[in-house]
Amino acid sequence: MSPVLTLLEALKKAERYLADHAIASPRLEAQLLFSHVLGLSRVALFTQYDRPLSGAEIRELREKLQTKAKGVPTAYILGYREFYGRRFRVTPDVLIPRPETEELVAHILNRLQHARHIADAGAGSGVLGITLALELKAARLSLIDISGAALSVARENAQSFLRETGCAYYQADFCRADFSLPEKADLFVSNPPYVEPAEYATTPSLHFEPRCALVAEDFAAEHKALIQTAFRLLAPGGLFALETHPQKSHEAKSWLEQAGFSQVRVEKDLAGRPHFILAVRG
Ligand code: GLN
Repeated sequence: MSPVLTLLEALKKAERYLADHAIASPRLEAQLLFSHVLGLSRVALFTQYDRPLSGAEIRELREKLQTKAKGVPTAYILGYREFYGRRFRVTPDVLIPRPETEELVAHILNRLQHARHIADAGAGSGVLGITLALELKAARLSLIDISGAALSVARENAQSFLRETGCAYYQADFCRADFSLPEKADLFVSNPPYVEPAEYATTPSLHFEPRCALVAEDFAAEHKALIQTAFRLLAPGGLFALETHPQKSHEAKSWLEQAGFSQVRVEKDLAGRPHFILAVRG
């Protein structure tokens, strides 16, 4: 009979295995996978070090650790990511929500107490639009994405969180001048693709995520088109909130001003980079 492996022994082995495969934060990553597979909180893991693991648990842990060792983001292995205090479903069809985007939510909530109709262009998993719809008690949310696969993830998230908000889904290119919504929005948000093709090519950790969610093949043309769409689909006085490339936000600000937006403000993220733009449709 093979000796029983305890939780503590298995965790130590897992940490070493991930470290040997040059995975960043191997202890934390091991804990996250163990707590998911064993159905325990991370803290509960520490109180059950002597717990023996079953054969089935060991098999599932091994499989997930092997995937992690290839560099696959943990959010894809677990199938979820926390965003603004809620657990959202994510799959390799969508961008993994970033903590900076939670900061954009905070900037918007500093400006608004309520929004009736929110539009989220390039919604991906839907985290931005759904979080804002909940926080601002919106009656209506329009989720727009070019990817049908992303929209089905967004739909799953919207259905699990939104009770009071009517949600509509549009599979469309928000850059196109003929894209339209049946009703004007009073808040238009977007975290569009803004990574440069060359930046993407030299950042292998991004390659697990959909290229179309990350890369702006022509930053200026796509951003100008997005700004036109936002202006067209916002009601007068409505707020446009954008996450964009920190090295290009000042350029983007001038495009917003040229398009007729007023009170155009660039906001910094916690790392001090100018990462967000908020503007009012005149
Ligand atoms: N913040 C992301 C990154 O740098 C990019 C997100 C986006 O393109 N919208 O990885």
